[in-house]
Amino acid sequence: MPGTRAEPDLPRPLSPQRLGAIRKRLLAWYAEHEQPFPWRNARDPYAALVAAVAAQQTQMSRVLQIYDRWMAAFPTIRDLAEASDADAIRVWGRAGYPRRAVYLHRTAQIVCEHYNGRLPSERTLLESLPGVGPFTAAIVLNFGHGIDAAAVDTNIVRVLGRLLFGDLQPAIDTPSGDIRWAAERLLPDRQATRWNPALMDFGASICSPTPKCELCPLATLCVAEPKFGAGQRPAAARAQGPFTGSQRELRGMILSLLRASDAPLTRSSVIEHVAREARVKQSRVLLSERSLIEDRLIRRIDHMLTLGSSDI
Ligand code: SF4
Repeated sequence: MPGTRAEPDLPRPLSPQRLGAIRKRLLAWYAEHEQPFPWRNARDPYAALVAAVAAQQTQMSRVLQIYDRWMAAFPTIRDLAEASDADAIRVWGRAGYPRRAVYLHRTAQIVCEHYNGRLPSERTLLESLPGVGPFTAAIVLNFGHGIDAAAVDTNIVRVLGRLLFGDLQPAIDTPSGDIRWAAERLLPDRQATRWNPALMDFGASICSPTPKCELCPLATLCVAEPKFGAGQRPAAARAQGPFTGSQRELRGMILSLLRASDAPLTRSSVIEHVAREARVKQSRVLLSERSLIEDRLIRRIDHMLTLGSSDI
């Protein structure tokens, strides 16, 4: 709730004039740069849920593809609840982090079983659903129910941490409690459905990892702008480990084989095939198989493997 956190030490006071100017300029920027994503005006809690889950750790350009494919396969939450989890995993395809498909499917079943097919409009109830964290709950409240709630994703962290605290790399340098405070403090009344996407889009295109301060309408209001102007830059992000031969790759290869088959596959043939293609020992593939089973993405039936964790 806004106003429940103590105000952190700010390098520059957030006077009513500065607060008003930030809101006004950002909303004016958004009026010109709004991305017409279908879930933003659908007023459909399910559509908002799918979009928010798809957006986790995924670039916006790919979110729209996942969203369109998912909504074509499962247009309503009841369609999803009545499908099998194997179908959900299949439709998710190669979108990455496939546990999200399982979470969506399980959430749909719970919502149909306990909430008459309607996603709740209380934050605590939403956050009790599988795979629904504070960001997803806020998006469902905003776009689905028209309720104000401050959303915080990686783009918003970057904008707020720079604008108010002057940190160049807020994901590392700005305490999460301060970001939370800032998100709630800046949120204008009854405008969350425009304010949150404005911050997200602004963070994606202007206050990006390498910011475009020279194009920024908030430059004169931003604590970090003089630092960037003086040539300071965030430390380079730590490089991810190689994908080839990683557990992520092996998991993806197993899933890919099972997705492509309507029937269960012999376990030994899957393990051998993946080990041969990836040029790794079978013991490593077995580890990946076990983690997929633990994540309920696949299951064993005697000596066979298949997608999903249940027959329904
Ligand atoms: S001035 Fe630069 S750092 Fe500050 S909000 Fe704008 S783009 Fe981000």
